Amino acid sequence: MFKIGCHLSISGGFLHAAKEIISLGGNTFQYFSRNPQGGQAKKWDQDDFLAFSKYAKNNGIEVILTHAPYTLNACSMKEEVREFALACFIEDINKLEHFDNALYNFHPGSHTGLGVQKGIDLIVEILNKVLFKEMKTTVLLECMAGKGSEIGRSFEEIAEIINRVELKEKLGVCLDTCHVFSAGYDIVNKLDEVLDEFDNVIGLEKLKAIHLNDSMTPFNSNKDRHEKIGKGTIGLEAIINIINHPKLKDLPFYLETPNELDGYRYEIEVLKKSRL
Ligand code: FE
Ligand code: FE
Ligand code: ZN
Repeated sequence: MFKIGCHLSISGGFLHAAKEIISLGGNTFQYFSRNPQGGQAKKWDQDDFLAFSKYAKNNGIEVILTHAPYTLNACSMKEEVREFALACFIEDINKLEHFDNALYNFHPGSHTGLGVQKGIDLIVEILNKVLFKEMKTTVLLECMAGKGSEIGRSFEEIAEIINRVELKEKLGVCLDTCHVFSAGYDIVNKLDEVLDEFDNVIGLEKLKAIHLNDSMTPFNSNKDRHEKIGKGTIGLEAIINIINHPKLKDLPFYLETPNELDGYRYEIEVLKKSRL
């Protein structure tokens, strides 16, 4: 089954978002665990969760993706920012344990001047604190474009983090097509080679989700500007190759393109028609 969806707000609850994605033609969605720029999370609504679970089961929603807020920075120079990251991780994962197979995606972080090595040390440290043996949630490191002091701009940086975490079986990777193209991985002309490189450096079995975005900026620009599908430097043909690639086609795909709901509906329709 083609798992396709987009980023949605869950301000109306899980059930509302699930109905929304079905009405848009999709079968999975991503949402922010809390205001992407802020701190406080909505409190857990068990009734909504149970209603959602039932609806999801009856409507072919097998998986959803939770995105940590942008303010979660595990490797900031500022201690209070790192403390928030820790608290946020613990609280979010705690909630996600209600699910049987939750995926929790986060940006590895920006070292804000500490340097890449120290940044990686801090990310490893926080993951070693928040992961626990019995957890059912898989925590995904998102591949980043490499703007500013972002960590996770190369497969090697992601691999180093995973390899140094004790409970590495709780970790996975989310590949953002806009980010990796901006980071210098040519998924337009050399998709097979990029996937081989991912496999050699990280291991393709770690890849759990795809953020499907076109890009406003050129290859290797290290910028993070998402574009509508087919309107950017990646282009529709490359995106169609991605959704149909034998090594990717069973993963869930999430649009994070600059769209309102109608735009998402249209993109989902185009992508579904383009599935072989
Ligand atoms: Fe992201
Ligand atoms: Fe993304
Ligand atoms: Zn992005």
